[in-house]
Amino acid sequence: MGYLEGFAVTFNKLFEERVTTEYPEVKRPKAERLHGRHVLNRYEDGMEKCIGCELCAGVCPAKCIYVRGQDNPVDDPVSPGERYGYIYEINYLRCIHCDLCVEACPTEAITESKLFEFSFSNRADAIYTKAELVVDDEGQPQKLPWEDWRPGEADTTSAWMRATSSSGDADYQGRVAWSGELGYGVRDPEAGQTEAAADADGADGDAHDGNGGH
Ligand code: SF4
Ligand code: SF4
Repeated sequence: MGYLEGFAVTFNKLFEERVTTEYPEVKRPKAERLHGRHVLNRYEDGMEKCIGCELCAGVCPAKCIYVRGQDNPVDDPVSPGERYGYIYEINYLRCIHCDLCVEACPTEAITESKLFEFSFSNRADAIYTKAELVVDDEGQPQKLPWEDWRPGEADTTSAWMRATSSSGDADYQGRVAWSGELGYGVRDPEAGQTEAAADADGADGDAHDGNGGH
Protein backbone atom coordinates (compact mmCIF):
# COMPACT_ATOMS: atom_id res chain seq x y z
CA MET A 1 0.00 0.00 0.00
CA GLY A 2 2.96 2.28 0.50
CA TYR A 3 3.28 3.21 -3.17
CA LEU A 4 -0.41 4.10 -3.37
CA GLU A 5 0.04 6.55 -0.53
CA GLY A 6 2.97 8.01 -2.47
CA PHE A 7 0.81 8.49 -5.55
CA ALA A 8 -1.86 10.12 -3.40
CA VAL A 9 0.67 12.66 -2.12
CA THR A 10 1.72 13.44 -5.69
CA PHE A 11 -1.89 13.69 -6.87
CA ASN A 12 -2.88 16.04 -4.05
CA LYS A 13 0.05 18.35 -4.86
CA LEU A 14 -1.51 19.01 -8.27
CA PHE A 15 -4.21 21.06 -6.58
CA GLU A 16 -2.06 23.04 -4.16
CA GLU A 17 -0.94 26.61 -4.81
CA ARG A 18 2.33 26.76 -6.73
CA VAL A 19 5.29 28.22 -4.88
CA THR A 20 7.55 28.52 -7.93
CA THR A 21 7.38 31.45 -10.37
CA GLU A 22 8.25 31.68 -14.06
CA TYR A 23 11.40 33.77 -13.67
CA PRO A 24 12.33 36.09 -15.38
CA GLU A 25 8.79 36.73 -16.67
CA VAL A 26 7.57 36.89 -13.07
CA LYS A 27 9.87 38.59 -10.57
CA ARG A 28 9.22 38.38 -6.85
CA PRO A 29 9.65 41.53 -4.74
CA LYS A 30 13.07 41.85 -3.18
CA ALA A 31 13.67 41.85 0.55
CA GLU A 32 14.02 45.24 2.23
CA ARG A 33 17.66 44.67 3.16
CA LEU A 34 18.81 42.67 0.14
CA HIS A 35 22.52 43.16 -0.53
CA GLY A 36 23.23 43.83 -4.19
CA ARG A 37 25.92 45.55 -6.21
CA HIS A 38 27.65 48.47 -4.54
CA VAL A 39 27.58 52.19 -5.19
CA LEU A 40 30.02 54.88 -4.11
CA ASN A 41 27.97 57.76 -2.75
CA ARG A 42 28.47 61.50 -2.90
CA TYR A 43 27.41 64.27 -0.53
CA GLU A 44 24.61 66.63 -1.44
CA ASP A 45 27.14 69.17 -2.72
CA GLY A 46 28.53 66.57 -5.12
CA MET A 47 31.74 65.78 -3.26
CA GLU A 48 32.67 62.12 -3.00
CA LYS A 49 32.23 60.51 0.40
CA CYS A 50 35.16 58.12 -0.01
CA ILE A 51 38.33 59.29 1.73
CA GLY A 52 40.50 56.45 0.49
CA CYS A 53 41.11 55.02 3.98
CA GLU A 54 41.08 51.41 2.72
CA LEU A 55 39.13 50.12 5.74
CA CYS A 56 36.64 48.43 3.42
CA ALA A 57 39.45 46.61 1.63
CA GLY A 58 40.98 45.55 4.94
CA VAL A 59 37.78 44.07 6.33
CA CYS A 60 36.62 42.32 3.14
CA PRO A 61 36.77 38.55 3.78
CA ALA A 62 36.86 37.81 0.04
CA LYS A 63 39.71 40.27 -0.62
CA CYS A 64 37.88 41.67 -3.59
CA ILE A 65 38.23 45.42 -2.96
CA TYR A 66 41.24 47.36 -4.18
CA VAL A 67 41.56 50.98 -3.03
CA ARG A 68 44.30 53.53 -3.31
CA GLY A 69 44.02 56.91 -1.67
CA GLN A 70 45.89 60.10 -2.37
CA ASP A 71 45.91 63.67 -1.10
CA ASN A 72 43.14 65.91 -2.33
CA PRO A 73 44.22 68.61 -4.77
CA VAL A 74 44.19 71.86 -2.78
CA ASP A 75 42.49 73.84 -5.54
CA ASP A 76 39.98 71.20 -6.57
CA PRO A 77 39.32 68.69 -3.77
CA VAL A 78 37.38 65.55 -4.64
CA SER A 79 36.24 64.78 -1.08
CA PRO A 80 35.90 66.92 2.07
CA GLY A 81 38.68 64.94 3.73
CA GLU A 82 42.43 65.19 3.46
CA ARG A 83 42.46 62.31 1.01
CA TYR A 84 40.18 60.67 -1.51
CA GLY A 85 39.99 57.32 -3.22
CA TYR A 86 41.54 57.74 -6.64
CA ILE A 87 41.42 54.04 -7.44
CA TYR A 88 38.51 51.91 -6.29
CA GLU A 89 37.70 48.47 -7.66
CA ILE A 90 35.41 45.62 -6.61
CA ASN A 91 35.81 42.17 -8.12
CA TYR A 92 32.34 40.65 -8.43
CA LEU A 93 33.75 37.25 -9.25
CA ARG A 94 34.69 37.11 -5.56
CA CYS A 95 32.25 39.34 -3.65
CA ILE A 96 29.89 37.42 -1.33
CA HIS A 97 27.74 40.50 -0.53
CA CYS A 98 28.34 40.21 3.19
CA ASP A 99 28.19 44.02 3.61
CA LEU A 100 31.17 44.11 5.97
CA CYS A 101 32.68 46.82 3.78
CA VAL A 102 29.55 48.90 4.31
CA GLU A 103 29.74 48.45 8.06
CA ALA A 104 33.43 49.35 8.16
CA CYS A 105 33.19 52.52 6.09
CA PRO A 106 33.48 55.60 8.35
CA THR A 107 31.85 57.99 5.86
CA GLU A 108 28.95 55.93 4.44
CA ALA A 109 30.71 56.11 1.10
CA ILE A 110 30.20 52.50 0.07
CA THR A 111 26.70 51.00 0.25
CA GLU A 112 24.93 48.22 -1.55
CA SER A 113 21.97 48.63 -3.87
CA LYS A 114 19.35 45.93 -4.38
CA LEU A 115 20.62 45.03 -7.85
CA PHE A 116 21.58 41.39 -8.14
CA GLU A 117 20.49 40.73 -11.72
CA PHE A 118 23.72 41.38 -13.54
CA SER A 119 26.03 39.07 -15.42
CA PHE A 120 29.09 39.45 -17.61
CA SER A 121 30.85 37.52 -20.29
CA ASN A 122 34.39 38.68 -19.57
CA ARG A 123 36.55 39.30 -16.52
CA ALA A 124 37.03 43.01 -17.15
CA ASP A 125 33.30 43.67 -16.84
CA ALA A 126 33.20 41.73 -13.57
CA ILE A 127 35.72 44.07 -11.96
CA TYR A 128 33.85 47.31 -11.34
CA THR A 129 35.96 50.43 -11.42
CA LYS A 130 35.45 53.64 -9.50
CA ALA A 131 34.04 55.27 -12.64
CA GLU A 132 31.32 52.61 -12.69
CA LEU A 133 30.62 52.52 -8.95
CA VAL A 134 30.40 56.22 -8.17
CA VAL A 135 26.90 57.70 -8.47
CA ASP A 136 26.22 60.12 -11.33
CA ASP A 137 25.58 63.87 -11.12
CA GLU A 138 21.99 63.21 -10.03
CA GLY A 139 23.09 60.88 -7.24
CA GLN A 140 21.76 57.88 -9.16
CA PRO A 141 23.63 54.62 -9.62
CA GLN A 142 25.04 54.17 -13.10
CA LYS A 143 23.13 51.57 -15.05
CA LEU A 144 25.59 49.48 -16.99
CA PRO A 145 24.60 47.60 -20.16
CA TRP A 146 24.75 44.17 -18.53
CA GLU A 147 22.64 45.17 -15.51
CA ASP A 148 18.88 44.69 -15.17
CA TRP A 149 17.60 47.47 -12.90
CA ARG A 150 13.95 47.23 -11.92
CA PRO A 151 11.83 50.41 -12.01
CA GLY A 152 12.39 52.59 -8.93
CA GLU A 153 15.20 50.41 -7.67
CA ALA A 154 17.78 53.17 -7.92
CA ASP A 155 15.90 55.00 -5.16
CA THR A 156 16.71 52.28 -2.67
CA THR A 157 20.49 52.24 -2.75
CA SER A 158 21.94 52.53 0.77
CA ALA A 159 20.05 49.34 1.61
CA TRP A 160 19.93 48.37 5.27
CA MET A 161 22.00 51.34 6.39
CA ARG A 162 18.81 53.37 6.68
CA ALA A 163 17.71 51.14 9.53
CA THR A 164 17.62 53.07 12.78
CA SER A 165 17.98 50.22 15.23
CA SER A 166 18.83 46.59 14.96
CA SER A 167 15.60 45.38 16.49
CA GLY A 168 13.34 47.90 14.83
CA ASP A 169 12.29 49.72 17.99
CA ALA A 170 13.74 50.91 21.31
CA ASP A 171 15.85 53.98 21.98
CA TYR A 172 16.95 54.80 18.43
CA GLN A 173 13.56 54.59 16.80
CA GLY A 174 13.26 57.14 14.00
CA ARG A 175 16.73 58.61 14.44
CA VAL A 176 18.73 58.44 11.21
CA ALA A 177 22.46 58.73 11.80
CA TRP A 178 23.12 59.21 8.13
CA SER A 179 24.58 62.12 6.16
CA GLY A 180 22.76 63.57 3.20
CA GLU A 181 23.27 62.08 -0.25
CA LEU A 182 23.36 63.73 -3.64
CA GLY A 183 19.93 63.49 -5.19
CA TYR A 184 18.21 62.17 -2.06
CA GLY A 185 19.11 64.37 0.91
CA VAL A 186 18.86 62.60 4.25
CA ARG A 187 17.04 59.36 3.70
CA ASP A 188 14.10 58.25 5.74
CA PRO A 189 14.39 55.34 8.11
CA GLU A 190 13.23 51.94 6.96
CA ALA A 191 9.53 51.18 6.96
CA GLY A 192 8.40 50.42 10.49
CA GLN A 193 11.27 52.32 12.09
CA THR A 194 9.70 55.77 12.29
CA GLU A 195 8.28 57.16 15.50
CA ALA A 196 4.85 57.19 13.88
CA ALA A 197 5.16 53.48 13.29
CA ALA A 198 6.27 53.02 16.87
CA ASP A 199 3.22 54.90 18.13
CA ALA A 200 1.00 52.77 15.95
CA ASP A 201 2.52 49.70 17.54
CA GLY A 202 1.85 51.08 20.97
CA ALA A 203 5.54 51.49 21.69
CA ASP A 204 6.94 54.20 23.93
CA GLY A 205 6.81 57.33 21.78
CA ASP A 206 8.69 59.44 24.32
CA ALA A 207 12.00 57.71 23.79
CA HIS A 208 13.64 60.35 21.58
CA ASP A 209 13.00 63.15 19.17
CA GLY A 210 13.16 61.73 15.65
CA ASN A 211 14.35 63.24 12.40
CA GLY A 212 12.70 60.73 10.10
CA GLY A 213 10.68 63.45 8.39
CA HIS A 214 13.51 64.64 6.15
S1 SF4 B 1 30.14 42.85 0.44
FE1 SF4 B 1 31.64 41.60 1.62
S2 SF4 B 1 32.70 40.38 0.06
FE2 SF4 B 1 31.66 42.04 -1.05
S3 SF4 B 1 33.17 43.68 -1.23
FE3 SF4 B 1 32.01 44.08 0.67
S4 SF4 B 1 33.19 43.08 2.32
FE4 SF4 B 1 33.92 42.24 0.36
S1 SF4 C 1 34.69 53.31 0.75
FE1 SF4 C 1 34.76 53.96 2.91
S2 SF4 C 1 36.05 52.41 3.94
FE2 SF4 C 1 36.42 52.23 1.72
S3 SF4 C 1 38.20 53.53 1.30
FE3 SF4 C 1 36.38 54.78 0.93
S4 SF4 C 1 36.00 55.82 2.89
FE4 SF4 C 1 37.40 54.14 3.34
